[in-house]
Amino acid sequence: MLLRCTICGASNQLPASKLADALRCSRCRQIVPPPAHSLAATDAELAEITRDAPWPVLLDFWSPQEASGRDGAQEVEKFARRHQGHVLVLRVNIAQAPNAQVRFGVQRLPTFLLVDHGREIRRLVGLQSADQLESVLRAA
Ligand SMILES: [Zn+2]
Repeated sequence: MLLRCTICGASNQLPASKLADALRCSRCRQIVPPPAHSLAATDAELAEITRDAPWPVLLDFWSPQEASGRDGAQEVEKFARRHQGHVLVLRVNIAQAPNAQVRFGVQRLPTFLLVDHGREIRRLVGLQSADQLESVLRAA
C-alpha cells in the first residue's frame, strides 16, 4: 500500500502489516505518523489492507455520483482523525473497487463496514455523522 509522508509529501510503498511500525520516509528519512485521514483504495489495495492491517479497518463505500458520498466525507475525516493509529479508514469508490463491492455485498451507498483481519465486525448503511460512526467500535 502507499502512505504519503506528511512532512515532504513523498509516497512510500509499504506492506499493510507494517503500518503500526515506525516507518521512515524514503525521501526525508523522518518518521511518518499513521494516517489521520482516510485513504483511497483500489480492489488490490483493499484486499491487502483488510487482511493484513494491524488495526481494524473502516471501509466507506461511496460513489462520487451520489451526493451522500460527497456530503459524508467531512464526517468520515473527523472519525479518521479521532482514531489515528487505532482504526484505518478507507474510502472505497465503487467504480475503482468493483470486486470489493461484490465481496462485501454492498447494495446501498454509502455503506460503512468495520473489518478486522478480513472479517466483517459491524455494518452501517446510510449517511453517518462522526458520532454515529463511533457505534461501529462498540464491542468490536
Ligand atoms: Zn518524507
